[in-house]
Amino acid sequence: MDIITLLTRKTMYVFIKNLILDILSPSLCLLCKNYPPDLDKEMHICTSCLKNIPWNSCFFCVVCERRLPELSSRCRSHSQVTLCSAAPYNYAPIKNLIWELKFRNTKVAAKTLAKILFTYTERVLLKELHSIDFIIPIPLHYKREKERGYNQSELISRYFIDLLSLQVLQPIFDTASLTRVKYTEPQTEKNRDARLINLHDAFEVRNGTALHDKCVLLIDDVYTSGATMRAAAYTLKKHKVKRIICLTLAQA
Ligand SMILES: [Zn+2]
Ligand SMILES: [Zn+2]
Repeated sequence: MDIITLLTRKTMYVFIKNLILDILSPSLCLLCKNYPPDLDKEMHICTSCLKNIPWNSCFFCVVCERRLPELSSRCRSHSQVTLCSAAPYNYAPIKNLIWELKFRNTKVAAKTLAKILFTYTERVLLKELHSIDFIIPIPLHYKREKERGYNQSELISRYFIDLLSLQVLQPIFDTASLTRVKYTEPQTEKNRDARLINLHDAFEVRNGTALHDKCVLLIDDVYTSGATMRAAAYTLKKHKVKRIICLTLAQA
């Protein structure tokens, strides 16, 4: 078989494969569940949906749980830890998509959520992004990860890093240093104090010398009581991390 025939066959094969994939799973915007013409086919989100997100314009202090003044990214008393959340939790399209990713096994939703996170950081966090040394997704306990089959925050973070690399930013993706050592029951039913006690000592840092004096971007899907983020940030701070930016899609 000559090279031309081989190439033609290969092109045909790729074409047919893509056609079948398109028929089986046509590109859908996962936020509006439509097939709009302005769709980003790779990330499954349309331009209109991205534009309609009620973006948060303020950051929050993870320690004193207060909204920071507009344009300010650091709390005066606790400048080391800042929370940046893309949108309010009651914004149903994002809330539903997170739910689909976590409980309906819709892994492709991680791409869309990463695109939302990236668009948000481009808007409000671009300057800070250049100082990030490590990206760490909030780990699940290994038992929980086994039950679900994956860690949703890790999936989102992986796609988020792909998008960052387009900006020539290459922080280290670290899924080894921070581990979750305590298995906790699902948190939704518990009140705030119970959650804080429940997550006490939930995380550990292993071989953390590389993190000393570095800036870490900690990624999770949602920030509800803040107990998870606070516990993880506290553990990282104990291991001499200089600055922690907590980044989530939604904040309750
Ligand atoms: Zn849409
Ligand atoms: Zn504060």
